[in-house]
Amino acid sequence: MEISIIGGGIGGLTTALALHRAGIPCTIYESVGELRELGVGINLLPHAVRELETLGLLPGLLEIAVETSELCYFNKFGQLIWREPRGIAAGYQWPQFSVHRGRLQSLLHRTVVERLGEDSLLLGHHLQDYDSSGDGRIRLRFIDRKSGESLPERLADCVIAADGIHSRVRALHYPDEGMPIWNGAILWRGVTESEPFLSGRTMFMAGHQDQKFVCYPISAEHHRQGKSYTNWIAELRFEPRALASREDWNRPGVLADFLPRFESWQFDWLDIPRLIRDASAIYEFPMVDRDPVATWAFGRVALLGDAAHPMYPIGSNGASQGILDAACITRLLQQHADSADAFIAYDAERRPKTSAIVLANRNNGPEQVMQMAEDRAPGGFDNIDDVIDQAELVAIARRYKQIAGLDRTTLNQGDSGT
Ligand SMILES: Cc1cc2nc3c(=O)[nH]c(=O)nc-3n(C[C@H](O)[C@H](O)[C@H](O)COP(=O)(O)OP(=O)(O)OC[C@H]3O[C@@H](n4cnc5c(N)ncnc54)[C@H](O)[C@@H]3O)c2cc1C
Repeated sequence: MEISIIGGGIGGLTTALALHRAGIPCTIYESVGELRELGVGINLLPHAVRELETLGLLPGLLEIAVETSELCYFNKFGQLIWREPRGIAAGYQWPQFSVHRGRLQSLLHRTVVERLGEDSLLLGHHLQDYDSSGDGRIRLRFIDRKSGESLPERLADCVIAADGIHSRVRALHYPDEGMPIWNGAILWRGVTESEPFLSGRTMFMAGHQDQKFVCYPISAEHHRQGKSYTNWIAELRFEPRALASREDWNRPGVLADFLPRFESWQFDWLDIPRLIRDASAIYEFPMVDRDPVATWAFGRVALLGDAAHPMYPIGSNGASQGILDAACITRLLQQHADSADAFIAYDAERRPKTSAIVLANRNNGPEQVMQMAEDRAPGGFDNIDDVIDQAELVAIARRYKQIAGLDRTTLNQGDSGT
């Protein structure tokens, strides 16, 4: 069986490594001509790290990523609402990692080339469409996006489409879906070399749903040198409307559009306006997702990662769920003689779980405690217990972990999150 993977992002490359480990040959087709270290910070939750460890990637991750030790929520005055340990510190057998997306992609890419060989990844191959070749195989048509020229057709026994939020394969099956849905929030994302803050490995969020600041260190190298390479996201909410232009992870942001709103956010423990000013680069990105769809399985073709379940970057699930998809689809391809059956089983297992996360994220996921604090105590508080009952805070955190497949006992006892 020869599998074609469309897209060499986090989901596609992880799938290639998982298939290779299972002894299933595959080829990856990636649209861009060169994989550059693009993006800023992302998080890998313990269930995803567990799958990456199975693929032998833990040493590489420890080299580049920060082991997140705690997650904190603050109000807009920097007063603590909720603090919880994360990863190993929370009793999981696997760490939670915060890492630069581009460096993670490089690690995966390097490992694919080492294990599967250079020829396994064809860059500059943008999938246009596909059809049946007549002999039960799938005929794939590609173009070189730079030149617009058609490339030779390729044949595959089955196709895994990991081609991101603008998935061509998804659009071929859901032609009326259109652009992703914007909820009115704009995220300005940046990375700043700074002094460490809080535990030095803390991920925190401050504010509420209309104005929020998310921050965490993402470089193990800086951490080892007593410094912080700090990823941050400043978020403001506007009146939602249709997106004027297609969102782009690499669109530069302008300080004047958001810094004034954060000027007063100088907490005792971190000067946020300074962190923003010192950034090496700033990108602007709208908070978008898509509605869950009826199926990801179309015969011997299946969607995976953001192509299947694009979601808001809340609760650190985007990359992690793509990695869980990769583990699940590989296991089922080993179990079923016909990939069409494997894809039906994969769809049945993964789609309900990830659809629940997409919808929970629309309701702010675990971050809803910040809005509760804002609604109940907009002028701040001396003690959070006067504002929100501890039991309520515990219940919200626990509920989201269950939805995200992060129940600690289940995970540690060996039942994979997939
Ligand atoms: C350039 C870039 C920067 C990003 N930066 C961040 C970030 O800073 N923070 C964050 O939380 N998330 C970021 N993301 C999204 C994040 O990587 C995903 O949400 C998550 O990792 C799931 O990965 P994925 O493989 O499903 O999708 P992606 O990582 O988006 O990968 C999809 C891949 O498919 C390729 N592709 C698209 N269409 C085709 C086609 N027709 N034919 C062949 N290949 C195709 C794309 O070039 C891309 O490499 C970024 C994505 C990209 C592409």
